[in-house]
Amino acid sequence: MKYNPRINEDAARLEGFTKLHPYQPIEQCQGILKLLYELEQILVNISGMPAFTLQPAAGAHGELTGMLIIRAYLEKKGETRHKIIIPDSAHGTNPASAALCGYEVESIQSNANGLVDIEKLKAFFTRDTAALMITNPNTLGLFEKDIVEICKIAHNAGGLVYCDGANMNALLGIARPGDMGVDILHLNLHKTFSTPHGGGGPGAGPIGVTEALKPFLPVPRIDVLATERTEIAERKSAGASGRSPLLPHNSVSSVNSVAEVLRKKYILNYDYPDSIGRVRAFYGHIGMMIRAYTYLLSLGKEGVCKVGEHAVLNANYLRHKLKKYYDIPYGKTCMHEFVISAKRQKQKGVSALDIAKKLLDYGFHAPTIYFPLIVEEALMIEPTETESRETLDTFVAAMIRIAQDIEQRPEVVRNTPQTTLIGRPDEVKAAREPKLKWE
Ligand SMILES: *Cc1c(COP(=O)(O)O)cnc(C)c1O
Repeated sequence: MKYNPRINEDAARLEGFTKLHPYQPIEQCQGILKLLYELEQILVNISGMPAFTLQPAAGAHGELTGMLIIRAYLEKKGETRHKIIIPDSAHGTNPASAALCGYEVESIQSNANGLVDIEKLKAFFTRDTAALMITNPNTLGLFEKDIVEICKIAHNAGGLVYCDGANMNALLGIARPGDMGVDILHLNLHKTFSTPHGGGGPGAGPIGVTEALKPFLPVPRIDVLATERTEIAERKSAGASGRSPLLPHNSVSSVNSVAEVLRKKYILNYDYPDSIGRVRAFYGHIGMMIRAYTYLLSLGKEGVCKVGEHAVLNANYLRHKLKKYYDIPYGKTCMHEFVISAKRQKQKGVSALDIAKKLLDYGFHAPTIYFPLIVEEALMIEPTETESRETLDTFVAAMIRIAQDIEQRPEVVRNTPQTTLIGRPDEVKAAREPKLKWE
């Protein structure tokens, strides 16, 4: 999770947005529709996927929507395929989404470098395989460098490639999954685009698709009707300042003139006969979209490019500083994250869970642990681009101290946390029977 800028919250709380009702006449909702339309266009530009829907309410929901689109697309071609291939390093939601859509999941073992094994994939991908679901950068924080070849293998077998782009930090402004050949991509606004993340939501998991899959996207789609007068106005204002650098030149510009805005009509279009239908009540989690849009416009094109660079730099900085103290089984450099194995520490009787708890005593949010499943005693370290050098150094110092303590007096790390109000809740009970109100 990255820093959630206050300005996002201010924008989402503007009365013009908060007092809107989803049943309000379309003429009175032009502002929000314009915002949503433009957000779609920015995501198109960032990802290289030709069309987007903002409806899915989370990453997992985007995956399910993607699976439904794949099934509808293949059925339209008269094909019924039964299998989805998923690497063993994938997020647990991937197989769950495929299974929920009625597919049989085939897990493919990663190679010694933690990447998709091309030879194995060739053997696995048959005429009964609907798609490969791949995460890139994968959950080990490694870039699947053979992605172009991987997409070719899938396409040659008549199948598709679904890319899990929940975390796009490393690629932001640097590389585009659409250019690599993937057919569907989901993005998590709550991971990459600075909307709040935690407490169970709400999130947003927009998905982008190729031209071939566009007809199957959920309805309603936000479309823009341009009148003849608008076209004249647009030609006149071509190159005008005030146009967002993130938007393509042929898109609706954000030029200041009110008259121009009124001449463009945004509509909610239900006229897509091949659409899989709605996946969400109304139009999705609009508040998250306002936040993401604000974030993107406040960064601008240059800022977005820096996100990718800094996220990768920060992760590699930590990786380099910690590699002497902890085992990092995969990769020599990483993208936005890397995965430590506390196998060595486990021999001293201290687990990944203990280390995560000890970090709470040092004032750090505990990292994701025991994931990905292919790393024993895994601790996933993902600093994001918004952490300062000082914070990174403080984190390094805490991690080194923990490693040294484990060597000399492991019980100090085992009996943690000491500084929090609640020590160690029953994790299963906390997840299964949460008490969400004060009694
Ligand atoms: C977080 C995540 C998901 C699931 O996203 P949710 O919004 O939590 O449903 C899927 N894949 C990857 C790689 C993730 O990191």
